Amino acid sequence: MREGTLDEISDGRFYEANDMVKADCQGCEGCHACCEGMGDTLLLDPLDVHRLAVFLGKTAASLLEGELSLAVQDGLILPYPAVVGEKETCIFLDGNGRCRVHAARPGYCRIFPLGRYYEDGEFRYILQIHECDRRKTKVKVKKWVDTPELARYERFVRDWHYFVRELQQKLASSGDPDYVRKVNLFFLRAFYQKEYEPEGDFYEQFYDRLRKARAIFA
Ligand code: SF4
Ligand code: SF4
Repeated sequence: MREGTLDEISDGRFYEANDMVKADCQGCEGCHACCEGMGDTLLLDPLDVHRLAVFLGKTAASLLEGELSLAVQDGLILPYPAVVGEKETCIFLDGNGRCRVHAARPGYCRIFPLGRYYEDGEFRYILQIHECDRRKTKVKVKKWVDTPELARYERFVRDWHYFVRELQQKLASSGDPDYVRKVNLFFLRAFYQKEYEPEGDFYEQFYDRLRKARAIFA
């Protein structure tokens, strides 16, 4: 989440999967600036955590007790990669300044320096102009996002975002600490701690959980 108008943070344009955008920073050779100083801002969605767990050969629950920390954003508990040292370096950065989970890096890391702009139940990509000084070349958005089944992934990103916003609004208007605690326990368990079957289709499993959660929180 960023403060500021679109014109202040971006080149003022919206991008979609088939558009070309000047975002390719050439493999970030010799730079890891955006893997430091991020505090608790790199919030992870359920696919991020599932993908990291499979890649690292761990359970999601053990990641949540180790490499991941928990932040409270608008009343809702969400995981993010732990940060270490004075520079608040992402725990997944190795000693050579490279990402040791590159193949399973979170969605926000995949799109950076692109960002997502949510509006009217959808989202589009924006190019953040103050986030990476490197000279960049043009690349197709879908190549840059580097995610299989992109249309399904984008639908998941959109649905997750608006579900989280909806829950946060419910929590904000409840004023009942016991309700807030129960919602958070259910939310963490249902979407993060409970394993997704690695051989199964992630999105089918996710939408099954989302339907059940919506029925409970309706
Ligand atoms: S600041 Fe730019 S070049 Fe450096 S790591 Fe981030 S995206 Fe890559
Ligand atoms: S997961 Fe990898 S790319 Fe993302 S912030 Fe951490 S080290 Fe950087």
